[in-house]
Amino acid sequence: MLNIVLFGPPGAGKGTQSEKLINSKSLVHISTGDLFRNNIGEGTALGKKAQTFMDEGKLVPDEIVIGMVEDMIEKNVSAKGFIFDGFPRTVAQAEALDGMLAERELTISGMVSLEVPENELISRLLDRGKTSGRVDDQNEAKIATRIEEYQNKTAPVAGYYKSQNKFNGINGVGSIENIYKDISTAIEQFG
Ligand code: ADP
Repeated sequence: MLNIVLFGPPGAGKGTQSEKLINSKSLVHISTGDLFRNNIGEGTALGKKAQTFMDEGKLVPDEIVIGMVEDMIEKNVSAKGFIFDGFPRTVAQAEALDGMLAERELTISGMVSLEVPENELISRLLDRGKTSGRVDDQNEAKIATRIEEYQNKTAPVAGYYKSQNKFNGINGVGSIENIYKDISTAIEQFG
């Protein structure tokens, strides 16, 4: 299995690049943000638990996220592989992911980290907010909270994968095609 963690701050382009990767490599896309938004749309109990955190730009508590991801892995054990997009976002989530993969004799093949400067992130998110309908994209204070959550809780996840020699940094500024090419080159090394 090819199991990729696509990493980066809010607005780095993880969703865009994931779409391209799942099409070309037939991988199952696990986007925790999309899964939460689907649950909110359907009015599920899980969606209700997640919504207040998301609307504020805060991370949803680990146990809620981890349970949801484990369900998705369990439903797709015979897939060619997974792209984890927006997960893990804390070191505890990264440890839990390694644990649930190990139980199934699987591992993460590598992490691809999209690197984008903060001023560019803010302008991309505000731009997306004009059409996405996402309340967390429409207000600078919420965007600032998301970036702060990223710096405090999520950025250390890169170190977790660096210590396993699985980290690959990619410049996330440029054309979608060129960034995709750089990601593909990195993934080819995963074997
Ligand atoms: P973005 O990367 O643009 O912030 P996402 O769709 O990945 O967008 O996430 C939107 C929101 O969903 C986050 O701000 C957070 O509240 C919640 N969320 C998504 N994934 C996780 C996660 N792994 N852990 C905690 N919260 C999450």
